Amino acid sequence: MSHNSNLLHRRERLLGPNMTTFYSDPVHIVRGEGAWLWDADGNRYLDCYNNVPHVGHAHPKVVEAISAQAATLNTHTRYLHEGILDYAERLTGTMEHDLDTMIMVCTGSEANDIALRMGRAMTGKTGIICTDNTYHGNTDLVSHLSAKKTPIGGAVDWVKKVPSPDTLAPLGGSAEAQAQAFADEIQTAIDTLEAEGHGFGTLILCPFFANEGFPDLPSGFLDPTVEVVRRAGGIIIADEVQPGFGRTGRHFWGHQRIGLAPDIVTMGKPMGNGHPVAAVVTRPEIMAEFRNRFGYFNTFGGNPVSAAAAMAVLDVLAEESLVENARDTGDYALELLRQLDHPMIADVRGAGLFLGVEFARDGDTKRAAPFCAQLVDEMRNRGVLLHSVGRYYHGIKIRPPMCFDRAQADLLVETMDAALKALPV
Ligand code: PMP
Repeated sequence: MSHNSNLLHRRERLLGPNMTTFYSDPVHIVRGEGAWLWDADGNRYLDCYNNVPHVGHAHPKVVEAISAQAATLNTHTRYLHEGILDYAERLTGTMEHDLDTMIMVCTGSEANDIALRMGRAMTGKTGIICTDNTYHGNTDLVSHLSAKKTPIGGAVDWVKKVPSPDTLAPLGGSAEAQAQAFADEIQTAIDTLEAEGHGFGTLILCPFFANEGFPDLPSGFLDPTVEVVRRAGGIIIADEVQPGFGRTGRHFWGHQRIGLAPDIVTMGKPMGNGHPVAAVVTRPEIMAEFRNRFGYFNTFGGNPVSAAAAMAVLDVLAEESLVENARDTGDYALELLRQLDHPMIADVRGAGLFLGVEFARDGDTKRAAPFCAQLVDEMRNRGVLLHSVGRYYHGIKIRPPMCFDRAQADLLVETMDAALKALPV
């Protein structure tokens, strides 16, 4: 039995079946540095997908912050400690002034679970609206929103899913028409929730529509939606798990990029550079309503080590000008990707270091999915790690650590060019 199949066998026996792995031949990673990864045989890979090690794999400053704090104190969160407070001040300083209170948790799923419960607490209504091609996490409540997983008991009628915006097949033609069409879909969902007796409480969206395939949408796209939600007295959650922390290059948050003023912001993945830390940020009156009603406590959320890791990430982002790097290197990589010549490329788009290539076969995106899966494997075999995205997994998602540089962008695009040429169309 080969080394990898032995690990896969143990994984299945010890951790259970049906666990996600990437690539037909999964990679056994043992070390990382910056945007590079090494497998157990010493092969090097360029990590073009991983938004968890946001400021780079094993960043020495984050490692040092974690180990110094772990060597001093780590405990549950019922003691007084400055770490979480200093971080809350720093984090909320990156947002609009009324979003200035925070709960720290361990995963994006928990953050969204809390945010949805905040929405229910504020409105007294259980109805939730999300898009039909999203993922917001895996608690019992949040899993009802996920497009690609079926919760026990099947779909619930207090969640209504609206068609997600699409670059290739827009809901309503022009950007303005699509913005209105999206808002109209939300209005219909609100009316249905009200008519069915659940009432409409909360709209949750990734402001970059990351899992939906990140269609190119102008700032102001959500204005008609906000109007509809406000008229109905609803709460808006911006899930920043993917576009947050400067990923899109010109804004620190995805909601700022699209010009959305949310009531609640959730975040996770990149926040601790791999250390499990996530958060919910909201206005004080929403926080008070939630805390008074539920008295929330999270044993690990915002413990001294988590707060130190998260603070170090903000320090490195600033010290190394990584948001500016995402803008500059992202623009450079996007330009290179646009020069790729292949009959199945239907669109190349993105912002900062969040880029994508969408494929279609004879104009049909669904039929491009098998090709995309082959391309992902071909890239892996050539030492570049990325993965697929979109309704049918018919596009490539490129989302490397924020320290990604131009030489790495060159390597990514040269490798993709060679992989595209090597694959039968
Ligand atoms: N929201 C979004 C948009 C996500 O993509 C994810 C994870 N892929 C989550 C929430 C859940 O985060 P976690 O896995 O940390 O629970």
